[in-house]
Amino acid sequence: MTQIVPVRHLFGPGPCNPYPEATAALGLPLLGHLDPAFIARMDRTCDGLRTLWGTENSRTLPLSATGSAGMEAAFVNTVKAGDVAVIAVNGLFGERMCEVASRAGAEVVRVDHEYGTPVDAQRVADAHPNPTVIAAVHAETSTGVISDMAALGAIKGDALLIMDAVTSIGGMPVKVDEWGVDVAYAGTQKCIGVAPGLAPFTISERAFERRVQKPQSWYLDLGLLGGYTTGGAGGGRTYHHTAPVGMVASLEAGIDRILAEGIEAVTARHQAAGQALQDGLEEMGLTLFAAEGHRLPQLTTVYVPEGVDSAKVRSYLLERFNIEIGGGVGKYASTVWRIGLMGPNANPTSVALILAALKEAIAKA
Ligand SMILES: *Cc1c(COP(=O)(O)O)cnc(C)c1O
Repeated sequence: MTQIVPVRHLFGPGPCNPYPEATAALGLPLLGHLDPAFIARMDRTCDGLRTLWGTENSRTLPLSATGSAGMEAAFVNTVKAGDVAVIAVNGLFGERMCEVASRAGAEVVRVDHEYGTPVDAQRVADAHPNPTVIAAVHAETSTGVISDMAALGAIKGDALLIMDAVTSIGGMPVKVDEWGVDVAYAGTQKCIGVAPGLAPFTISERAFERRVQKPQSWYLDLGLLGGYTTGGAGGGRTYHHTAPVGMVASLEAGIDRILAEGIEAVTARHQAAGQALQDGLEEMGLTLFAAEGHRLPQLTTVYVPEGVDSAKVRSYLLERFNIEIGGGVGKYASTVWRIGLMGPNANPTSVALILAALKEAIAKA
């Protein structure tokens, strides 16, 4: 029996609905992964990523897996047994960094912050005199908070600075070189507006020179991946693994879409949608979760009103309006909602739709 696939409004923490151009590119004829036409496509994609990242790093590429593989690649290539990783934790993804870094053998020094608040660069600086790496999440999707990465770049000293930009890239300015970030990773399914499956990644020359030789992961060994995107001697590509050809075509189209609109315009669109949503929620009498002045426009966290069943409201939204929103994380699982307006969903129509639907769901669920 044919199953009818519902068409959802993906207003949760990701994936969002992709840009139509990115979806259309998935239907292009498939190329071999060493075909010159595909190599040209990969080169253009890496150039586009350099623009989104704000970097000149030659080692900028989409890793063949989701954002978490970007996190894994960042740590296995920079820390080994005995190295110190100072990690700012202000949400779920900071917690995950601690787990990944400790599995790579690092001695993890956690700098815990209250959920809903941004990273305090001074506390990170005071945590250890000479760490190997310092890591933080730019846009914490679990709490809806933005942190100042430039402030961490200013205090990093000799350490390498690792940035999780999974939710920020494509929705707000990201300036890897200007901020002094050495290693950064992202995902395709948040504000880049492409289906999940790739992890845009960039690493500075300084970090690459210091990289772990023979890291425990063969698949994510950046030393081996060099020949995969930048070509070996004479520019020839070498086989490491089969590039997800279709996903790269989709990413290329998604980046083209963002650059055609312009990073400033895309940023302004996310800003306007997030502000309108947050204003609308407050007008409904709801209370926002993230600290004022540090709120992400693309991911809004809001308290579930007293006496309202969080799960029932989410089911009502899904069943009646085909709208997905997220629950909270950890101890906030049933007391906070997470509403994402990412990529093409950052627009006034989506704002009006979610506000009206949520009002009805709260009243009737
Ligand atoms: C979604 C997300 C990740 C993990 O990405 P996956 O694609 O789910 O593997 C990591 N960090 C942040 C901040 C995220 O929002």
